[in-house]
Amino acid sequence: MKTAIFYDDLFLKHDTGSYHPEIPERLTAIIKRLEEKNLLDKFIPLKKRFATKDELELVHHDSYIDYVQHLAQKGGGYLDGDTPISKYSYEAAKLAAGSGLEAIDEIQNGNIESAILLVRPPGHHSLKSRGMGFCLFNNIAIAARYALQKGFKKIAILDWDVHHGNGTQDEFYKDKNVLFISIHQFPFYPGTGAIDEIGEGEGKGYTLNVPMPRGSTDADYKKAFENKILPKIIEYEPEILLISAGFDAHKLDPLGGIELSTSMYEWMTDKITKLAKECCNGKIISFLEGGYSLKALAESLEAHSTVLLDS
Ligand SMILES: [Zn+2]
Repeated sequence: MKTAIFYDDLFLKHDTGSYHPEIPERLTAIIKRLEEKNLLDKFIPLKKRFATKDELELVHHDSYIDYVQHLAQKGGGYLDGDTPISKYSYEAAKLAAGSGLEAIDEIQNGNIESAILLVRPPGHHSLKSRGMGFCLFNNIAIAARYALQKGFKKIAILDWDVHHGNGTQDEFYKDKNVLFISIHQFPFYPGTGAIDEIGEGEGKGYTLNVPMPRGSTDADYKKAFENKILPKIIEYEPEILLISAGFDAHKLDPLGGIELSTSMYEWMTDKITKLAKECCNGKIISFLEGGYSLKALAESLEAHSTVLLDS
C-alpha cells in the first residue's frame, strides 16, 4: 500500500520533565527501530504542516487554544496534574494536529492510501476546552472534523489505546457521521467508556465502547474484534478509517493492565487493513497515542508499519 509517514524533531521539544512516562525517547525509540529494520525508506514522506488556529477551532474553543499558547509563551505550566506544557509544546501540538490534515488531503488527492503519524503530544483525551491525560489538542478529532468539511460523509474512528478516548467520544457523541469505537481497560483512567455509553440523539448507536477487564489477553481482544468491532465497522460502511493507535495495552506497558503481545498489534492492523481495503480503498490514518514501554512501543510500531506497507 502507498503508505506515508510523518515524524519531525520538533515533537522531541515537547518537554514533559523528569519522571513523566510520555517522553521524547518514545519517538526516538520508534524511529531507531524502523531505521534498523530498513522500513523508514519504504514510506512516502508527508509534508510538514502546522494546523492553523481556525483548524484547531474545528474541535477546540478559541479561549482554550489561547490558553495553551499563553502557557507555552510564558515558558510552561500545567493543564492538569498529568499534562505539562513547555516552551515548544504549542508548536509541537499544532504540528501533531496539522499532520492529520495533511494526511487527509494527500489521501483525498490520491497520492497516498494510508498514513502513520508518529506524533506527540497525543490527543484522544483532549476535550473541547480542556487538555488532560498528556493530551493538548485532539489530533484525531480535528482530522475527522476536517475530513467531514472536505466532503467525507462517513468516518470510522477505532481507538485501541488502553485508555478510553473520552475526548474523541465527547466530540462525536451526538454525531452519526463519525462512528467512534473504543476498546480499552475498564474500569481505568479516565473513568469513562462504559458499555452503556452509546451516543445520544442523532448519534445514538454510533458510539461503541468495548470495556475489557484488567488482565485481558490476545484471545479476549480477538473475540471482541471478531464479535463486536469488525461487524460494527462493516455495517457502518465508512469511507475512511482513523485509528487512535496507542500501544499501552501491551503486556510490557508500565501503565496499562492489559496483556497483549506484540503480534496482536500485527493481527489488529491486518484485520483493519483488510476491512479498509473492502470498505474504503484502504484509506487508513493511524495516529500515535500512548505506549510507555520503549521496547514494546518500538516493536509494536514495527509490526503495525510492516502490515500497512505490505498490504
Ligand atoms: Zn493510553
